[in-house]
Amino acid sequence: MQKFFNYINGKLIEPHSGKYLDNYNPAEGKIYSLVPDSDESDVDQAVTAASVAFPLWSVLPAEERMKILLKVADLIDHDLSKLALAESIDNGKPMKLARSLDIPRASANIRFYATAAMHFATDAHVNEEDSVNYTTRMPIGVAGCISPWNLPLYLFTWKIAPALAAGCTVVAKPSELTPMTAFLFSKLCIEAGLPPGVLNIVHGLGGKVGQAIVEHPQVPVISFTGGTVTGKKIAATAAPMFKKLSLELGGKNPNIILADCDFEQAVKTSILSSFANQGEICLCGSRILVERSLFDKFVTEFVKRTKELKVGDPQNELTDLGALVSEAHLHKVLSYVNLAKEEGGKILTGGNPIKLEGHLSSGYYMEPTVIVDLDEKCRTNQEEIFGPVVTIMPFETEAHAIELANSTPYGLSATIWTENLKRAHRVSHQVKSGIIWVNCWLHRDLRTPFGGMKQSGVGREGGWEALRFFTEAKNVCVKL
Ligand code: NAD
Repeated sequence: MQKFFNYINGKLIEPHSGKYLDNYNPAEGKIYSLVPDSDESDVDQAVTAASVAFPLWSVLPAEERMKILLKVADLIDHDLSKLALAESIDNGKPMKLARSLDIPRASANIRFYATAAMHFATDAHVNEEDSVNYTTRMPIGVAGCISPWNLPLYLFTWKIAPALAAGCTVVAKPSELTPMTAFLFSKLCIEAGLPPGVLNIVHGLGGKVGQAIVEHPQVPVISFTGGTVTGKKIAATAAPMFKKLSLELGGKNPNIILADCDFEQAVKTSILSSFANQGEICLCGSRILVERSLFDKFVTEFVKRTKELKVGDPQNELTDLGALVSEAHLHKVLSYVNLAKEEGGKILTGGNPIKLEGHLSSGYYMEPTVIVDLDEKCRTNQEEIFGPVVTIMPFETEAHAIELANSTPYGLSATIWTENLKRAHRVSHQVKSGIIWVNCWLHRDLRTPFGGMKQSGVGREGGWEALRFFTEAKNVCVKL
């Protein structure tokens, strides 16, 4: 059985406990590898290595840091097929998605920040009468980076890359459910010549390893992506220690379809924004809001196309939806389908687990599910399900659409479909979400601020925001 190791101080090592956790292949429902069950002592060793590496790495010219990081990015591209297969096996996502989205985005993240650090500049404020102020931005120190299972290497590198490019050293923890590409990534960092201790990857459980990173007094900055409940715990631990925090949390994103939309584009993209990656993307539009006059037409076409989606072997190029990440998650998502029924919802298609044949017979598959007739206040429409389940609700007016869009505690992203430019701007300005897509979805420009409002998070990633986050501003005022 394949074993993964921690990456600490430039070496691949066993956890101190000698213990390992089972790692499942969700497509087969079988254990296929072992992940270190690390604890506080492993985290402490990693933080020590990162602290020792910090003085040298933080003063290395940005160009030198860039050269090493670009090598890592090149190695990811070189290993595209291997990494995509690993991601698909570990997470259950279709191989074609890992190859076209997850892995290319991982190298793009690294390239983007390696080069961005070369252009990162600070401000000067000149008071012609008597003084000059200038601001320095120094890397903070050892950064803790904690990521989830849905886009494993994509989100792992989205945090690590700006931290390293800014001059921080890092102790990172991937999700215990999808550790494989982080392990392969540690090997690529060694191959690229990343100096020992600059990046350390500690595998294990969130409550043990993640918590130990957050609690560690020598980790002054934490970048976390995951669930809102975990985010609250992390904030409660980190706030009294006055740590700098970036929290990218859950969503219950509205997908607003106005009657004057480009119907074909709206339906086609809504199928993706509902079910891509089995609906396990924080940006999925899980609440589809449709203007009343278009409602019946939209629902009929959307359900027809949902029924055409192929759930199956993630390795098959024709598969649209692979397996959900774990048995527990499959049960959670199915429990929301039952809840929706109890709340008076009508299942138009889907709602059931799927049993595939042969070696896939124990995998965690379910039908893509469309639900109507639910009130916006019910739990199904308020809580994040994070699976292939969407609800569709009608709205009467633009104001009603905005009211429904803003009716949850979340505020991560929203999608708006309309051919009317003024309307697009008007609605965008009133929807309380950190990211708005008009006539598109998941169309990403890495320079833009990324993050959520309300319970979807605190702070923004992306562009200069992340480089600012991993550095501390200091103003120097010189009297003339
Ligand atoms: P999770 O919160 O359970 O776990 C995320 C990470 O935190 C994992 O590595 C986990 O081991 C770790 N963790 C768990 N408890 C911890 C603790 N007490 N201290 C420190 N770390 C701890 O989330 P998940 O189930 O892995 O991911 C799904 C969630 O992530 C969804 O809610 C989804 O919306 C969210 N998400 C958000 C974004 C975003 O950009 N806003 C992106 C992707 C996923």
